[in-house]
Amino acid sequence: MIIVISGPGGVGKGTVVGELLRRDPNLWLSRSWTTRERRPGEPEDAYHFVDRATFDARAAEDGFLEWAEFLGNRYGTPYPEPRPGSDVLLEIDVQGAAQVSERHPDALLVFLEPPSPQVQEQRLRGRGDSPEKVAQRIEKAREESAAGRALGAAVVVNDDLERAVTEVADLIASSRRAATAG
Ligand code: 5GP
Repeated sequence: MIIVISGPGGVGKGTVVGELLRRDPNLWLSRSWTTRERRPGEPEDAYHFVDRATFDARAAEDGFLEWAEFLGNRYGTPYPEPRPGSDVLLEIDVQGAAQVSERHPDALLVFLEPPSPQVQEQRLRGRGDSPEKVAQRIEKAREESAAGRALGAAVVVNDDLERAVTEVADLIASSRRAATAG
């Protein structure tokens, strides 16, 4: 099964995903490729950081399950090779979610929403993005929210981490039951 977690920057996707992985050993997180520069303090393995030519060469040979351009950088998911018996967890933008959903109509799509634009802005500032980038990402969030809803993703508000993670874990459990029931 494929589980896609999308949502605007600063919504706390990374924290929710980290908590899901900690609680559920049967989830396998895909590592994306990106042409974005590594942020100060961002772990080296947060992405496979590559230049544009390397990315485009891989995209040209159909090396990605999905890829998209987001605020001037490219991001792509290599074809997943999960541990046997594990479900694939993708943390990707809504354009990528749409591509995955087309290829895998049974994928579980989850869209995380921030409790308010103010909270989102605080979170974005806190991780060192420039004020200009923060403004761009807030603007982008409006489009993403509309696109997430149009895709029919399950919307989960990340107002309280514990509550949001439990809600996503429940959605995953229901999807697994549905998949087993065939
Ligand atoms: P950031 O630059 O903040 O790490 O990521 C920007 C956006 O790209 C986020 O919405 C993030 O979820 C998304 N993203 C990360 N990896 C991928 C990927 O492999 N494919 C797509 N389509 N989006 C991705």
